[in-house]
Amino acid sequence: MKFVILARTKRLPDMIKYTLVMIAASILFSMPSKGQPVDLIVKNAKIYTVDPEFTIADALAVKDGIFVGVGTEEEILNQFKSDNVIDAGGKTIYPGFIDAHCHFLMYGLTLQQANLRDTKSFDEILDILKKHRKENPEGWLEGTGWDHNDWPVKKFPDNRKLDELFPNVPVILTRIDGHAVLANEAAIEASGIHPNDFAPGEVIRENGKMTGIFLENAVDALKNAIPPVSRKGKEEALLKAQRNCFAVGLTSVQDAGLPHTDIAIIDSLQEKGNLKIRIYSMMSPDKENMEQLANGPVVKPRLHVASIKLYADGALGSRGAKLLEPYSDAPETSGIFVNEKEYLENICRKAYKAGFQINTHCIGDAAVKRMLDIYQEILGGPNDRRWRIEHVQIVAPEDFARFGQFNIIPSVQTTHCTSDMYWAEERIGDRIKYAYAYKQLLNENGWLANGSDFPIEEINPILGFYAGVVRKDPAGWPPNGFHPENAISRKEALRSMTIWAAKAAFEENEKGSIEQGKLADFVMLDTDLMRAQEVQLSKAKVLLTVSNGEVVYQKE
Ligand SMILES: [Zn+2]
Repeated sequence: MKFVILARTKRLPDMIKYTLVMIAASILFSMPSKGQPVDLIVKNAKIYTVDPEFTIADALAVKDGIFVGVGTEEEILNQFKSDNVIDAGGKTIYPGFIDAHCHFLMYGLTLQQANLRDTKSFDEILDILKKHRKENPEGWLEGTGWDHNDWPVKKFPDNRKLDELFPNVPVILTRIDGHAVLANEAAIEASGIHPNDFAPGEVIRENGKMTGIFLENAVDALKNAIPPVSRKGKEEALLKAQRNCFAVGLTSVQDAGLPHTDIAIIDSLQEKGNLKIRIYSMMSPDKENMEQLANGPVVKPRLHVASIKLYADGALGSRGAKLLEPYSDAPETSGIFVNEKEYLENICRKAYKAGFQINTHCIGDAAVKRMLDIYQEILGGPNDRRWRIEHVQIVAPEDFARFGQFNIIPSVQTTHCTSDMYWAEERIGDRIKYAYAYKQLLNENGWLANGSDFPIEEINPILGFYAGVVRKDPAGWPPNGFHPENAISRKEALRSMTIWAAKAAFEENEKGSIEQGKLADFVMLDTDLMRAQEVQLSKAKVLLTVSNGEVVYQKE
């Protein structure tokens, strides 16, 4: 038909020619297209596919939760049709973001506690607690997120004022890093712990008297005494956490260590269809989880269990990170190994035999060295087991090469650098040259995984992108970036929170890029992360989040 009309127009006056061409065109466009029907088409977008060539596409098609087409708008509209077409208005689209190390359930639970983040003094904390208690009069009083490094007097608080205010209510306030708590007398008494049960560094005293500050193993002992959260409470926490994560573009999270019972709650909530976020759950080495080794990894559409989370040391802020040499600002201590080497090695060997991954928390250079020794011994040489070191904050210069030699994957949190940069050098002195050395670590294997460690940091992965690339705080300090030689490029930063994060969980064939055949998880932003001015980056907002082809968040 088209050719007949156009042929005839040759002998007709211009006006009629034009009219006929327009009629022909409108018939063509209103005709049902020959394309294959799909669930969703997105067009007029700038799609950073994050495929191996870093291709930019402008349209995509989704069917049954899978990308069935990615390409130019012409290609996609010719090949597919859908009742559900989103015009992206030229905005940028990325693979759904993946947080390679976070505490998803814990974050949900902290949403139910008093929020002490960004408090500027201990008095401000007391005000928040009084208000929170009025609204939540039952049970223990828990708060989280304080950081004495933000206060005028940068000193651990003590529990005297808590005892005055809450003589009969057990109060436990967790420091921002999760490795220290302040507990009042009622909590210490209710927990039944005895200070002599712990290493001297784990119970802080002043003039022989306990101050209420506890570190590392003593933290766990106190927290174990808190009446457990009910299953319903945990389910609510997971759903709250999911809602907030979708709103910042996270479609997958890697939970850094859960007991067997909590993984089971996640599983059942996902099976019911309520929990849609994809979770790579590392297992805490409890008895039931260790028994899981015999059954092999769990691989479901939204749940993947294939690793064990271990701890080698504590955190830098509370001087629990284990250093090779003493702290520069506290020469009497070099930090704490939280587990015996033999214990760690034994679990690593079991995991290796069963085909599981090991992901170990190591912050100080002594902890990194210890785990590299264990990994090296077991892995033996080049391999594809992707055993990870989580955080990797301080590395002895001679140890960097071992990451490459034994294919050990650095799993870093770029926001830790910009959160710690104000005081980290005081703690470790010259060793700062080998701290937060993300570029140097990346060079070892050509890739690394990035996460946030939320709730220790904020959940927004774009802050991690900004911190990794710019190495400044959101206010732009320091002007040249903190040790900018260890900044990573924008492409590397995007890969670290998409395809490389997926790879760190053996999921790079299913997710982490927008390619035909992969899971349809993607996010649309109001800002072009590859081109925007530095100052715009940390302000980028999510407009749309799609998980498995379904819109799970849309900005109002
Ligand atoms: Zn963590």
